[in-house]
Amino acid sequence: MIQSTQNPAPKFQAVTRSNVEKTHQWASLDPELREGIEVLSLVLPFRTNKYVMDELIDWNNLPNDPIFNLVFPRSGMLEEDEFNEVRDLVRSEAGKPEINAAVERIRNRLNPHPAGQMTHNVPQVDGEPVPGLQHKYRETVLFFPAHGQTCHAYCTFCFRWAQFIGDEDLKFANKEVDQLLRYLRQHPEVSDVLFTGGDPMVMKSKVLERYIRPILEDPELEHIRTIRIGTKSVAYWPQRYVSDADADDVLRLFEDVVKSGRTLGIMGHYSHGVELKTDVSREAIRRIRSTGANIRMQSPVIRHVNDDAAIWKDMWREGADQGLIPYYMFVERDTGPKKWFELPLVNVWNIFREAYRNLSGICRTVRGPSMSAFPGKVHVLGPVDLAGGKALALEYLQCRNPEMVRRPFFAKYSATASWFDELEPLTEADAKFWPGNWDSDSLSEEGIQLTVSSSDE
Ligand SMILES: *Cc1c(COP(=O)(O)O)cnc(C)c1O
Ligand code: SF4
Repeated sequence: MIQSTQNPAPKFQAVTRSNVEKTHQWASLDPELREGIEVLSLVLPFRTNKYVMDELIDWNNLPNDPIFNLVFPRSGMLEEDEFNEVRDLVRSEAGKPEINAAVERIRNRLNPHPAGQMTHNVPQVDGEPVPGLQHKYRETVLFFPAHGQTCHAYCTFCFRWAQFIGDEDLKFANKEVDQLLRYLRQHPEVSDVLFTGGDPMVMKSKVLERYIRPILEDPELEHIRTIRIGTKSVAYWPQRYVSDADADDVLRLFEDVVKSGRTLGIMGHYSHGVELKTDVSREAIRRIRSTGANIRMQSPVIRHVNDDAAIWKDMWREGADQGLIPYYMFVERDTGPKKWFELPLVNVWNIFREAYRNLSGICRTVRGPSMSAFPGKVHVLGPVDLAGGKALALEYLQCRNPEMVRRPFFAKYSATASWFDELEPLTEADAKFWPGNWDSDSLSEEGIQLTVSSSDE
C-alpha cells in the first residue's frame, strides 16, 4: 500500500451558515453577496468546506467564480419577491416562526422530488418496500446507503437538497444491507450496483465496507460484475483518498473489489477543470487508479458554473490526461432554483458539441447532453430540418422500456425548452416515445413491447 505523504494530515472543516463569518474570506466579501448568502442559506441547505474555499475558489474572480457559484447561494436563486420577503424578515429581526413559515412556503414551490423519484422507483423484496433502493433500468440498481446521505459540500443546484434539510418524510434511508443483498439475489438480470447518495464516500471505511464486502463474498451474487460509487468527494475532499485516517483502508477495499474480478467504477462528479488540478486531487486520482479502479467523469451543465464549451473541453482533456474517462454530460433537472440555473436544451447541446468536436477520440467516450427524465435518459442529438418542420432529434440512452433505447425520434423544435416535458412529439409516429402514450396498443405494430417490467414500478 502506498504511504500517505502529507504531514500533518489536514482536517476536514465544514463551513456552514453558523461559522462562515469566521472564515478569513468573509470580511472581504461584497456586502450584497454576503446578504445573499445570509438570506438564501435559510431556505436552501448551505455547506462548503475549507479546502473548497482555500484551494478551489478564486476570490479575485467574484461574483463569477465557478466554484463560488457552485457552493455559495446567490440572491438570484429566488424569485425577487421571495428573496425580499425573507431579507426583510431577517433585517427586521423577525421571530423564528415567522421566518420558518416563509421559508416553508418557498421550499415547497421549489419541487424537491422531480421525475417521480419518491413514488415510482421503490422496489420490493419479499413484499416489503425497500426505500433505499431504486431500480429503474434493468441492469443497474441504485442504492442510497443511510449513512451516505450528506456531502463534503453542497452544490446549490442539487435536486437532492430535500434530503439535507432534515425533512424525514423525504429522506431515502435504508439501514439494511440485508435487504439490498436479498434483492440482488432475486434479480440475476442486474449486473451493476451503483452506490449513491448524498455521497457514499462521506462514510468511514468501516461503514462503507459493511455495504460492499458482503457483495464480494456472496456466491449467489456472482452476477454483480460492476460496483460503482457515485461521488463528489474526488472534487470536494480528495484528502479522503490521501491523508484521512482511513484513506489506506478505503484503497484496500477498492483493491479487494478489483481482486474479486469485478470492475470498480468511481463515478466522479466533476464540475470544472479547476477541481482536477490541485496537488491533492492529482494524488487522490493516482492512488485510486493504483487500486485498479477506474474513474469516470460526469456532471450537469450549470449556468454560472460551467455553461461554456471551453470549460468542458479543458476538463475532459485534463481528466483524460490523468487517466479519467469522460462519461456523461447531464442537463440539469427541473427542481430547485430553476430560473437561476436553467439553460435551453439547444444551448446545452451547443456547449457539448463545441467541446466534443475539439477533442480527440479518447475524450469522446462522453455522451450527452442527457436528461434523466421520468421515462429514461434522453439524449439530445441536436436540431434538424425535416420535411415535417424544424425538429430536435432525440434518443433514449436508458429507458424504463429497454425496447426504446437507441431509436432516434423527434420533438418539435424549441429554442427555449430546457427539459423533456416542455417538448412535444413532431409527428404521431414520435408520440410513442412519450410515456403518456405508453398504454396505447398502436405501438405493438412496431414490435415495441410497452409493458413496464415489474422492476420498474
Ligand atoms: C443514470 C442512471 C443509472 C446508470 O445509468 P448508466 O447509463 O449505466 O450509467 C441507473 N439508474 C438510474 C436511475 C439512473 O438515473
Ligand atoms: S455532491 Fe452530489 S449529492 Fe451532494 S450536493 Fe452536490 S450534486 Fe448533490
